[in-house]
Amino acid sequence: MSQNSTPSLRELEHHGAFIERHIGPNDAEIALMLRTVGYDSLDAMTDAIVPGKIKSPAPLALPQSVTEEQALAKIRAIADKNQVFRSFIGQGYYGTLTPNVILRNILENPAWYTAYTPYQAEISQGRMEALINFQTMVADLTGMDIANASLLDEATAAAEAMTLAKRSAKSKSNVFFVSKDVHPQTLEVLHTRADGIGIELHVGDDSDALNVDSFGALLQYPNTFGQINDYKALTDAVHARGGLVAVATDLLALTLIASPGSWGADMVVGNSQRFGVPFGFGGPHAAYLACRDAYKRSMPGRLIGVSVDAEGKPAYRLTLQTREQHIRREKATSNICTAQVLLAVMASTYAVYHGPDGLRRIAHRVHRMSAILAAALRKQGITVGPDFFDTLHIVDVDAAAIHAKAQAAGINLRAIDGRSLGISLDETATRADLVALAGIFGAKLDDIDALDAATPDALPAALRRQNAFLEHPVFNTHHSEHELLRYLRSLADKDLALDRTMIPLGSCTMKLNATAEMIPVTWPEFANIHPLAPANQSQGYQQLIDELEAMLVECTGYDAVSLQPNSGAQGEYAGLLAIRAYHRSRNEGHRDICLIPESAHGTNPASAQMCGMTVVVTKCDSNGNVDLDDIRAKAEKYSDRLAALMITYPSTHGVFEEDVVAICDIVHQHGGQVYTDGANMNALVGVAKPGKWGSDVSHLNLHKTFCIPHGGGGPGVGPCAVKSHLAPFLPRTLGGEGNVGMVSAASFGSASILPISWMYITLMGTEGLRKATQVALLNANYIAKRLEAHFETLYTGRNGLVAHECILDLRPIKDATGISAEDVAKRLIDFGFHAPTLSFPVAGTLMVEPTESESQHELDRFIDAMIQIRDEIRAIENGNLDREDNPLRNAPHTATMVTASEWTHAYPRELAAFPLPSLKLQKYWSPVARVDNVYGDKNIMCACIPVDAYKEEAEA
Ligand SMILES: *Cc1c(COP(=O)(O)O)cnc(C)c1O
Repeated sequence: MSQNSTPSLRELEHHGAFIERHIGPNDAEIALMLRTVGYDSLDAMTDAIVPGKIKSPAPLALPQSVTEEQALAKIRAIADKNQVFRSFIGQGYYGTLTPNVILRNILENPAWYTAYTPYQAEISQGRMEALINFQTMVADLTGMDIANASLLDEATAAAEAMTLAKRSAKSKSNVFFVSKDVHPQTLEVLHTRADGIGIELHVGDDSDALNVDSFGALLQYPNTFGQINDYKALTDAVHARGGLVAVATDLLALTLIASPGSWGADMVVGNSQRFGVPFGFGGPHAAYLACRDAYKRSMPGRLIGVSVDAEGKPAYRLTLQTREQHIRREKATSNICTAQVLLAVMASTYAVYHGPDGLRRIAHRVHRMSAILAAALRKQGITVGPDFFDTLHIVDVDAAAIHAKAQAAGINLRAIDGRSLGISLDETATRADLVALAGIFGAKLDDIDALDAATPDALPAALRRQNAFLEHPVFNTHHSEHELLRYLRSLADKDLALDRTMIPLGSCTMKLNATAEMIPVTWPEFANIHPLAPANQSQGYQQLIDELEAMLVECTGYDAVSLQPNSGAQGEYAGLLAIRAYHRSRNEGHRDICLIPESAHGTNPASAQMCGMTVVVTKCDSNGNVDLDDIRAKAEKYSDRLAALMITYPSTHGVFEEDVVAICDIVHQHGGQVYTDGANMNALVGVAKPGKWGSDVSHLNLHKTFCIPHGGGGPGVGPCAVKSHLAPFLPRTLGGEGNVGMVSAASFGSASILPISWMYITLMGTEGLRKATQVALLNANYIAKRLEAHFETLYTGRNGLVAHECILDLRPIKDATGISAEDVAKRLIDFGFHAPTLSFPVAGTLMVEPTESESQHELDRFIDAMIQIRDEIRAIENGNLDREDNPLRNAPHTATMVTASEWTHAYPRELAAFPLPSLKLQKYWSPVARVDNVYGDKNIMCACIPVDAYKEEAEA
């Protein structure tokens, strides 16, 4: 726009468009940064980075970008096609009242939803406290010693319990017993998982568990039809044969009935959804797995533990990471990486807010309502099952007629078969609902209170809960809204999330999660749809899913997409299952070798192992490229058995490998399929398409490339995208057709967060998506270039350029000065930054991925911090700072440290706290000093810290 002439309407309309809000640098900054990197235009730079062989010839066939208002109006119209009925369907999903203080201050609060997985313990103390509350809550209610935080859904948690039992049981049997009365989706996923690793499932009546020789058994309590059974004798029988007992259960019911731990269960799984997390058409919700102490070193998923910091104070950290895939790879306990942290935080906070008495009151009210409804129906001559908490199993009725009447009244009930159905009440149920429900069966409920007085509880007397739970002060303090509000604020203040700083985590793509993208998630038309609601009520979701699938097909060059996997690792699993099923369909089921380059993310080998594949690791060359000759040699060697190659592109080393097309050819020549890990799609969208250069299948991480916030370690969506020959082998939906079973509990996985990615693609349009990729490339190269004189970039591709991330090599510095990559990571905290990815994919390095959303100002702030840190290292090199007692070794510095009356360090306090003048304007104080990893793994403690642990600190 020139200064003198009147701008045109078109120019004015373009200004402030979403693309400019999403992409950090403006065009003037882009021009300046391009000059630093040495190119005239984004296109010229892109041409210099991306190999010509893979470049897409045409722009994405997607609409042009639209404004936030237009996109919200479009998705509003889609949302309006969903119909919100009262859903008393149950089957693992129950209505819940999200406390508004939790809705606004967690679910809708970027301080919580934009955080990363708490690998950097010092800047994650707040969310880890919320997660340890979750672990304590689950362990207390289930009667187990230890619980994780968290798993993806109840069905996959049950599958993890099965494999935990297999690893831990004395019995050498290969059979896992499953009660036929577990939720159907649990059974589905168990079949998929058992088949992957050659476990034989025995599905039968509960009583069969007495006779089947099994390494473990899964029971459900209360079962899927609501009945509460006494499983003590069954449990003893399984134990007598050396097997272990896993129990799927319901946290709200456990406030009133005896915990599975009290009658002998070894592990307990379930879903915490009804603790304040909406239906969301099936997800995301946080599942849990709790177990006895004996199995903790073998349990899957993330576990928060308590350790001490450098000052001897208690501090949280992720514990026992040696179980996880980034360390144990194909021998890992599971492939869980992204889980459901945000939802676990919501569920635990629901318990903090209500406290034990409040939870019991909610449970009791649900139970009383269920008992009253049962009494009213029985009076009417209707048969209702005995011994329930909240679910009535109604038999011998004309189910179709009842469903028709219910739906006419705006109510959904659970469809079981032609003669029976289910009704599950929940905390949202009202007296009016009871009257309506009774009315559907022709019963009149004139005097609810009289019926209440006349109706006993339906909980079996012998199975009433006797012991207390949630006695820790955290569950007994924050019951007023002010108290909770301030507690949440105090936790969030301890943490660094994207609302305070860039999080330049290589491979994780921590980009903007725009507010407009988030807004539709909490609309009732998306939030309050039960996953098993009749299809005519979820037309909006169907449209959203279809459109998003089509968008992702266009972005990737594949032919079909399944949105069912609820994490990237689940997408890997689904993709490898598709490959395996494809080989089987061609009578090549013996193909079981999966080639994986040594630079691969740990979930790759862990997922391959879950499909029964044998992992063969291939080498990388000194330039960071996968070694073509090694791949060729191994593909030849295993030609008869080659199932797949898993490759990440651009590689985890941050380069666009030239040979990718040749690699695909080699694998295909030997009868294998090419799996491209799509975690790095942020370097590709609008520029190149894996489905067009020879790859057969990819997962995407919508929580990386497509703007779903990371949530502190989940939720995520890991769509599995395939070429047409693999499309018949995508996971089926619940009750649907297909060759391959479900990989997640819900047919469409984490459906309620799909609006975020739909909004992103719609807002950006063809032009914006390509530009985002290009600026992501530019930002990474700008950092690499500006840090060139200070830190060595380990690998570069064509023309000395990197892709969308760069690996800074700290190993020479370590050799010269003893300062490690970890020291630099911790020192960055003193500057208010979240560290880059530490020691992945190369030990002793930092991998920096700025994303397109960071402005030049923020990049420069980071670069300045890194240069100051390099100067401190130089001061150590030339003797101006002590080799042992220096600001890097002692980082991060807490406020208590730098304000202590006595300062004993060999460098000034000011350097400790304010290494750059700008920090005096705004300073983040780490709440704890460096956390001791070794102590934490030796002294495993995974529940809320007893209050007296802090005593000394307060007294001092
Ligand atoms: C993030 C990531 C994964 C795993 O994705 P999750 O959603 O965390 O399960 C796999 N591969 C690579 C390269 C990744 O960066």
